[in-house]
Amino acid sequence: MKKYHFKILIVWFSLCLCQLAKAQSKPVFDIVLVGGRVIDPETKLDAIRNIGILNGRIASISTNKLIGKELIDVKGLVVAPGFIDMHVHGRTNQEQEFQLHDGLTTALELEWGVENIEQWYDSRKSKALINFGASVCWPFERFRSMEKYKDANEKLLENTINGNSSLEGLFNAIGVSYKDKLSKEESNKMLMNINKSLAEGGIGIGIPIGYLPKTNPEELYAVYKYAGEKQVLLFSHLREPNMLSFQEAIANATLTQAPLHIVHINSMALGHIQMALEMIEAAKKRGVNISTEMYPYTAGSTLIQSAIFNEGWQERLDMSYNNLQWVLTGERLTKETFDKFRQTGGTVIIHNMQPEWLKLGMENAAVMIASDGMPYSALAHPRTAGTFSRVLGKYVREDKVLDLNTAIAKITLLPAKRLESIAPSMHQKGRIQVGADADITIFNADKIIDKASFEKGLAFSEGVEFVIVNGTLVLKNGKTVTGVFPGKAIVGKFKK
Ligand SMILES: [Zn+2]
Repeated sequence: MKKYHFKILIVWFSLCLCQLAKAQSKPVFDIVLVGGRVIDPETKLDAIRNIGILNGRIASISTNKLIGKELIDVKGLVVAPGFIDMHVHGRTNQEQEFQLHDGLTTALELEWGVENIEQWYDSRKSKALINFGASVCWPFERFRSMEKYKDANEKLLENTINGNSSLEGLFNAIGVSYKDKLSKEESNKMLMNINKSLAEGGIGIGIPIGYLPKTNPEELYAVYKYAGEKQVLLFSHLREPNMLSFQEAIANATLTQAPLHIVHINSMALGHIQMALEMIEAAKKRGVNISTEMYPYTAGSTLIQSAIFNEGWQERLDMSYNNLQWVLTGERLTKETFDKFRQTGGTVIIHNMQPEWLKLGMENAAVMIASDGMPYSALAHPRTAGTFSRVLGKYVREDKVLDLNTAIAKITLLPAKRLESIAPSMHQKGRIQVGADADITIFNADKIIDKASFEKGLAFSEGVEFVIVNGTLVLKNGKTVTGVFPGKAIVGKFKK
């Protein structure tokens, strides 16, 4: 009897040894995502896989069992590359938390860019929830080319160093210069300033000419020429929401070979979106380096003090006071309240688009999704919090305007590919592939939906269950993980 027991013990012991040897021969990952539906838009993988994450990178994608320090059961969920937003204006952690719940792992301020690039990047170092970055701000670089604004410029620098940089702060500081025409010397200085800020890490150049619509064609053309020579990507809010402005931008890009990204085609083209899409397609066929994006809402949002509301706005935007909603109260405006708020300044929501126009942009596989999310305020435009979940919940699941894989490409691979020639680290993002950065968004495709609304303001989206940024979990079981700041700077290729 004893002998028999001894034999069993030996067999058991050697089995254990064998298992141990086996386990030791396999790599141990930091995190293993078990059994999710993995979608990679580049390799077209759409299958159940386990993913091993090690040192901030995706180290294994496998049908085999993987061993890790932390196992996360993601069965029944979609495992996608982290969502990339090329167009945000809210860039503090307060806005980043809304973005995180909407599945973002990278949020970039590219339409406007930021002032004092180097100081701004420094101010966000080791503090960000998700990856961050910004373009060089052309309105700021022209502002500081003018000697008369020297003092205001110094104040703005101090503000940036103290970590208080914001779009509205910038706007209020430099707005006074929007009507100034640059002399030849100032224009040259502006280009030198841009060059310097690109060397500080700016991702291309933000040219929101729509806010400085009186800018000389010569000045704008000089920026395009510079961008063409240096192959710097331009991000443009066009001069006006009409087809002439598309023609101006496309002509400039064609003649100078400047790479061009037109922001929010939905609010730039309005009812002419089909023509705008056709023009972009035709330009591409002729070798123009051009792309565009949209947000999934029938309303826009901006500052009421901006030039967009200069004399004649009703005709330009084909609307009236009642189309405008004041974010602080939710009220629709009248002539009286419009005049009052135009003096005080602040954010307004502009209800001026039709659902059919959005559908045309959404159906076009080349149109990326970007939120144009505004800084936090009680009733900020819902796009700040809900853009990406709305595309996946409303446009994919409910309305079936596009399929899940196409939608994922629009919010991951397409923006990564668009940016990788100007920001090389984007080569490692927007993909679920071995060697790629472990920026991963895991969501429930049956539940994902936006919760922010025009009536109630911002709210976290639902259905995003886990978000991993550079290998660190920032969202777990739908909740923010506190005390972790894995967001890294995304910088342009000219960074010295
Ligand atoms: Zn804009």
